[in-house]
Amino acid sequence: MENQENKTEVIVVGAGPAGIACAITIARAGKEVVLIERGKFSGSKNMFGGAIYAQPTREIFPDFEQNAPIERKTIEHKYAILGEDDGTVISYKKKTDKNVSYSVIRGKFDRWMAEEAKKAGVILVEETVVRDLILENGYVKGVKTEVETYYADIVVLADGVNSLLARQIGMRNKLKPEDVALSVKEVIDVLKKGSTTLATTKSVTFVEGKNMRYFTKVITENFNITEEEVNNILKDETYLDELIKEYWFLTDDIKNKNIYYSLEGYLYPDTYEFYTNASIKDIFRKLLDNMDDKLTPYKEEIENSKYSVHEMMTLASIIELEAGNASDRKGVAGVFYNRLNNGWSLGSDVTTYYAEKIDNWSRDLKKSELSSCNSYNTRSSCMAGKLPVSPICNPGRESIIAAIEPTSHKYYYFVADKNGKTYFNETDNGHTKTVNQLKRDGLWIEYEN
Ligand SMILES: Cc1cc2nc3c(=O)[nH]c(=O)nc-3n(C[C@H](O)[C@H](O)[C@H](O)COP(=O)(O)OP(=O)(O)OC[C@H]3O[C@@H](n4cnc5c(N)ncnc54)[C@H](O)[C@@H]3O)c2cc1C
Repeated sequence: MENQENKTEVIVVGAGPAGIACAITIARAGKEVVLIERGKFSGSKNMFGGAIYAQPTREIFPDFEQNAPIERKTIEHKYAILGEDDGTVISYKKKTDKNVSYSVIRGKFDRWMAEEAKKAGVILVEETVVRDLILENGYVKGVKTEVETYYADIVVLADGVNSLLARQIGMRNKLKPEDVALSVKEVIDVLKKGSTTLATTKSVTFVEGKNMRYFTKVITENFNITEEEVNNILKDETYLDELIKEYWFLTDDIKNKNIYYSLEGYLYPDTYEFYTNASIKDIFRKLLDNMDDKLTPYKEEIENSKYSVHEMMTLASIIELEAGNASDRKGVAGVFYNRLNNGWSLGSDVTTYYAEKIDNWSRDLKKSELSSCNSYNTRSSCMAGKLPVSPICNPGRESIIAAIEPTSHKYYYFVADKNGKTYFNETDNGHTKTVNQLKRDGLWIEYEN
């Protein structure tokens, strides 16, 4: 139902060049327009410079060449026509100023455009992410941010070339690599007096299924960052609050005092290219951005589930370590949900290893460890019907999807053989029989201590 107080004539989502140009044109036509941008300020999400073409820019900002923060006039353009495995480059120079372009730093240029838009009467709302569109009878009637709902006669989506919002309502398909081009810009680090090195990058891999202790090791081995710095930032409430504000999948759940490492589970395992002088915040941001890309297509499914995103990520981390092979993950997820829904304990050894801060399967667990009441240890009866307080490793994509889309069945037990094949059972009796059969067939996994 529309709330007239929160209703405006036009809402534009995204204060990049397209959104600002649109909003300013509408405001100049005398309409009320609200421009919503997720960044701290327009351009803050853009780390690149870019070429701004004078002619279309002059149509909106006639004097921009005098007033805007432009860097240099481009005197030569090169166009590359790319083939499968070759390319032809055409170079073009022009004597007059008629169709020139300028290089700009987007962080500065977009911000200047946004200030001009405000002068024209645009209501700019920054640091606000539009999460959903409100659809009524097939029409977009407004937008939902994290805190508020706004209605409008017209909603313009200018949230960038990937427009996740247009994808959410089926107006856009996911971009195919062959339909887009990405130019690679060269970042030139101008040497300052006394400095001798250029910024270089390195490739670093975070393996899936590993926990924060391993991630910390990878970070400290590859960067000039200490274990203490990693641990301190994971406990820094101001930093965590900033992240919670920025990433929809991070919630206050990560601030629970019983959690060992606040970002455990949310750092997407992958191979990344980092600057060698990257800070711990740069590293976490890259991994969280990647998690955002992977999780966002499932946002609606997660929100419609009776489990929270934190619970699902926690379950995904257990599935990652418990499921023998990828094809069984959804079945294993089904077993865990059946147990949770019936108040059973998950009975997962990997949660006990995590609770004790020892590497998985590095030795047998002691009886006292298995029964110890700890908010991670699902072997303990005090955790019946409960998930651990946080994920216990950083799961990969298949485990995350398994937690979101489990197979529905009646099994309460599973066991994997030494080849990774998983056997499911409804009863303890059936489970014991399977285990004995595996032992007889030489398929039982024996761990070396
Ligand atoms: C490496 C690279 C180099 C490029 N170089 C050039 C160039 O030199 N010249 C050129 O013309 N083009 C260049 N492009 C293309 C360029 O990105 C686009 O021309 C331009 O940014 C498009 O502007 P836009 O406003 O549509 O999108 P964007 O600039 O992507 O702006 C979208 C804005 O929407 C915001 N937003 C997104 N989702 C939400 C949400 N849910 N809620 C609130 N706000 C949201 C973003 O924070 C962002 O500020 C380049 C692109 C890349 C990737």
